[in-house]
Amino acid sequence: MQVDYIVVGFGLAGLAFVVELEKANKSFIVIDNNPNRPSRVVGGMYNPIILKRFTPAWQAHEMWQVAHSFYKELEKKFSKEYLFPFEIRRILQSVEEQNNWVVASDKAVMCDYMKPDIIQESIAGIKAPFGFGKLINVGRVAGEMLLEDYKSYLLSKNLLKIDTFDYDSLLINEKSISYKTIKAKQVVFSEGSYIHQNPFFNYLPMQVAKGELLVIEVPKLTIDFTIKSSVFMVPFGNNQYVVGATYNWKDKSFDATDLAQQELEEKLKRFLKLPYRIVATKVGIRPTVKDRRPLVGQHPKYTNLAVLNGLGTRGVIIAPAIAKTLFNAIENKHEIPKEMSVERFQSLYTDNN
Ligand SMILES: Cc1cc2nc3c(=O)[nH]c(=O)nc-3n(C[C@H](O)[C@H](O)[C@H](O)COP(=O)(O)OP(=O)(O)OC[C@H]3O[C@@H](n4cnc5c(N)ncnc54)[C@H](O)[C@@H]3O)c2cc1C
Repeated sequence: MQVDYIVVGFGLAGLAFVVELEKANKSFIVIDNNPNRPSRVVGGMYNPIILKRFTPAWQAHEMWQVAHSFYKELEKKFSKEYLFPFEIRRILQSVEEQNNWVVASDKAVMCDYMKPDIIQESIAGIKAPFGFGKLINVGRVAGEMLLEDYKSYLLSKNLLKIDTFDYDSLLINEKSISYKTIKAKQVVFSEGSYIHQNPFFNYLPMQVAKGELLVIEVPKLTIDFTIKSSVFMVPFGNNQYVVGATYNWKDKSFDATDLAQQELEEKLKRFLKLPYRIVATKVGIRPTVKDRRPLVGQHPKYTNLAVLNGLGTRGVIIAPAIAKTLFNAIENKHEIPKEMSVERFQSLYTDNN
């Protein structure tokens, strides 16, 4: 088999890159070893504002413009809804936070999302004595459903192999690559938190963060907006809410832990004063980079190997834009912005090789 591209890993990064390939009529094969487990797009929220400090997240506003049309096009492709806009209500903790909210909501970019008025509405069972700040133009992408739909579509066209990529079977020549029976011009690695297993790109400084979430049912609460305090409580319909998330920089397992559950419940009970029951737990690993920027670019020595990773905590927003950037770098020799280019870690490669 001869293709233009082999894409290794089919999470959000791999999917976004495949969309670029299809648009450009490039031939490709995807290899992914995660056919049945739900994707690691565990939260799926899009929100370009950092709600701890009331500041815009890095390039999130700009990247969301790209991402929004990307998901809209996929809604058309599969005749399904993937974008679920909702408002977020941030519980304000003091008069000082109320003032900070009002000041921030007047600033460029922020004013697209933060409404200036403080909402004093009382919601039975929710403790918020200083009221809420309201965010609009935010919501959730049904990433798990989108990935499953795209996987089925690729499988139906024989464009997805369910397998673990074996790095030892890769033969690299100057102009082409062979992998088992496949010949390709380029390999794009988008393995998320598994990048440490990739001998070509494991020099990149990932600092992955395990995250856990609870799915709860609150029979006496029916709201259609997200509440944000020290945890998020996101509505999922039928009185169910997703509560999260934790950050654990040491444990790299996909096991749910009692400690995370305790932490989430303790934070939840600070504002939720209604009985609830835990329906499920969810675990994921965020592919976070030391400097909190994505990893985009070609290998320092083998330019026909490229990486698309480092989606961190905002994969839903950044995946479409960085996939476009990588595609244009490979095909059209466009320069990759320094902040996301793997070239910023060139010295680590030289040191280790
Ligand atoms: C608790 C939690 C909550 C989150 N909430 C949000 C949120 O609300 N909004 C948001 O935008 N982001 C959120 N994120 C982050 C988001 O989930 C990630 O940014 C995103 O899923 C990363 O996508 P990815 O494609 O890089 O990696 P992944 O989704 O991990 O995909 C990588 C794929 O590659 C496969 N793979 C790896 N190695 C190989 C190999 N050798 N051979 C074959 N296949 C391989 C893996 O099995 C996997 O299928 C959250 C993360 C966590 C943990």
